[in-house]
Amino acid sequence: MRARWARVATGPNSFDYYKSCPACYRQFGREVWRFAYTQVGTSYPNTARSEYGLTDKRMAKSNPYGIQSLCGEHRRGKGASASNAGLALPANAVLGKFVQNSWK
Ligand SMILES: [Zn+2]
Repeated sequence: MRARWARVATGPNSFDYYKSCPACYRQFGREVWRFAYTQVGTSYPNTARSEYGLTDKRMAKSNPYGIQSLCGEHRRGKGASASNAGLALPANAVLGKFVQNSWK
């Protein structure tokens, strides 16, 4: 399954973004949501709580800040630990994606 994105409004112009990890989907047999980043307005995202991290190599119009495809544990090649099986999306999460750098 391809990664999906969800966005949660946390203020008038601020959002938390979540992304599913495709390797976690294979490991756990279900979609696993992980925190991607926080963004206020058009500022550069805050990745302090991110389970992915950003890399210029993945920047694209469908991924404007270059978030990593796989979660940190999968990037390190060990698989996700059972105690780190993802987050429940907040009730006000909205599924979407970036199209031409804009959230749709
Ligand atoms: Zn993963």
